[in-house]
Amino acid sequence: MTDVVRTPAEFRRACEDARAARHRVGLVPTMGALHEGHFSLIDQAKARADYIALTIFVNPLQFGPGEDLDRYPRTFESDVEGCRKRGVDLIFAPNPDAMYPAGFQTEVSIKNVTQPLEGEFRPSHFDGVTTVVAKLFNLTGPCTAMFGRKDYQQWKVLSRMALDLDMPIEVLGCPIIREPDGLALSSRNRYLNARDRDRAVAIVTGLRAAHDAWLEGERDPGRLGKLAGDPVHRQFDRIDYVAAVDPETLLAPEGRPEALLIAAAAHLGETRLIDNVLLGGDPRP
Ligand code: AMP
Repeated sequence: MTDVVRTPAEFRRACEDARAARHRVGLVPTMGALHEGHFSLIDQAKARADYIALTIFVNPLQFGPGEDLDRYPRTFESDVEGCRKRGVDLIFAPNPDAMYPAGFQTEVSIKNVTQPLEGEFRPSHFDGVTTVVAKLFNLTGPCTAMFGRKDYQQWKVLSRMALDLDMPIEVLGCPIIREPDGLALSSRNRYLNARDRDRAVAIVTGLRAAHDAWLEGERDPGRLGKLAGDPVHRQFDRIDYVAAVDPETLLAPEGRPEALLIAAAAHLGETRLIDNVLLGGDPRP
């Protein structure tokens, strides 16, 4: 049975009761509009925990001015149904007022790892993410929390936060789930019209080109970044970044890299897509 709760107090209580009954809590934070990427996090959580809590909250704090907060897809009924089928025990779906009551004035902010890549193009985004996830971690209590490596930087930022603040949370990064043609699943893919859906594949075409070159021995970050960027430049309307960076610092690597993250963010019309591959870690996307 899947319970649905709306208030922080009910959510905390349910997680405490689960632990009191000797369950290990697995936490899956989402913004809803669930797809197979989210469901894979549920499956990974079930491999490590036996009480699965999924949160659905379109967090206004992490959207910048002019971003898609108002039109972000909301599909609550089918999300609940999907969670029920996948064996989620608890859904926490608060209203913004419950998370940020009148007078709220606290921000959790992580320094270095938030600055490059997404940080350059979405300046207050990670402060919104870390603030809401700190609240979710505090409400949940000791647990294993699953995040997708599709949002690679987010995973690194949240791992850093849990470590720095001694939160009793095991933060795990899970593999990217893709469509048959390679496009990473995203709630935002449903914004794409047929033409843009075709063009979107260029982002994974670029990641594959870099992955192939890496396997052939290429280690120059500039050349790998260019190989990844070329198809995106040809098909996308606007590019925020296509970069080859150190997988830990997310800055330009020093010396000959043993692994490299190729990360990309680009726009098709009004839709912004992100993707990445870890060279020296991930299989060919
Ligand atoms: P979102 O609802 O977009 O905020 O995503 C919630 C969680 O699902 C985040 O940890 C994402 O990284 C993860 N996620 C989203 N898309 C995918 C995907 N295609 N593969 C794996 N994880 C994903």
